[in-house]
Amino acid sequence: MGQRREAAVLVFDADDTLWENNVLFERVIEDFLTWLDHPTLDRAQLRAVLDDVERANALAHGYGSKIFLRSLADCLEKLRERPATEAERAEIEQLAVALVGHQVELMPGVAETLDDLATRHELLLLTKGEREEQQRKLDACGLLHHFRAAHIVPEKDADTYRRLAREHAFDPARAWMIGNSPRSDILPARAAGMNAVFIPNENTWVLEHEELDPSDPGVIRLAAFPDLVRHF
Ligand SMILES: [Mg+2]
Repeated sequence: MGQRREAAVLVFDADDTLWENNVLFERVIEDFLTWLDHPTLDRAQLRAVLDDVERANALAHGYGSKIFLRSLADCLEKLRERPATEAERAEIEQLAVALVGHQVELMPGVAETLDDLATRHELLLLTKGEREEQQRKLDACGLLHHFRAAHIVPEKDADTYRRLAREHAFDPARAWMIGNSPRSDILPARAAGMNAVFIPNENTWVLEHEELDPSDPGVIRLAAFPDLVRHF
C-alpha cells in the first residue's frame, strides 16, 4: 500500500471520472444500431462507420451531445448514401432524449473521497466539451465547493496543462492529473511535467483510448476513485 503524499495540487477530470458519461452515449448508440437495421453490415461494421464519423466531427466541431446527434445523422447519410429525411432526424433526436436531459450520476464514493482529500490538498477541476453542456453538469453535481476553480476547455493537450499550472501558479512536479482518459488526461499531463492517476472506466469512449507506458513512474493506476485516499 502506498504512503500518503504531502500536500499536492490534484486536478480532476469530470466525465467518466467523477460521474458516468460515456455509458449514456453507448446506450443511445446501441438503440441507433438496432434502429438502422442495416441489410448487409453487422453491428461491428456499423460501429466502425460511426466511429470514423465521430472522429472527424470531434476534430472539426469538438465534443458534446449536439455533435453526437449530428454524427448519428451523418452516419445514417453515409450508409444510406442520401440526406437524412426530416422523419429520420426526428427519430434520431428521440433516441437521444434520455442523454440530453440526463441528471448527473456520481461514481461510487466520489463525494466522500473529495470531502476527505480537500482537507489535505488543493483541488481543481478540468473538463473538456461544449461549454453550456459541461456547465449544466457542473451546476448539478453538488461538488463544486471542493474545487478552487473549475475549467471547461474545448480540448485537453499538453498546452492546456501548462496554462493551468501558470494560471494557478503551481509547480507541475507537485501536481497530479486524475482521470479515465489516457489521451486527454494522462499523456498530455505527463508531457507538461505533471504526475497522473489513471482510473480506468470500462465505458471510456473509444476515441480516448491510447497506450500507456506501464513502467512510467509518474503514473499511478487505481481501480476505483475511493482508492485515492490511500495515496493522497
Ligand atoms: Mg473523462
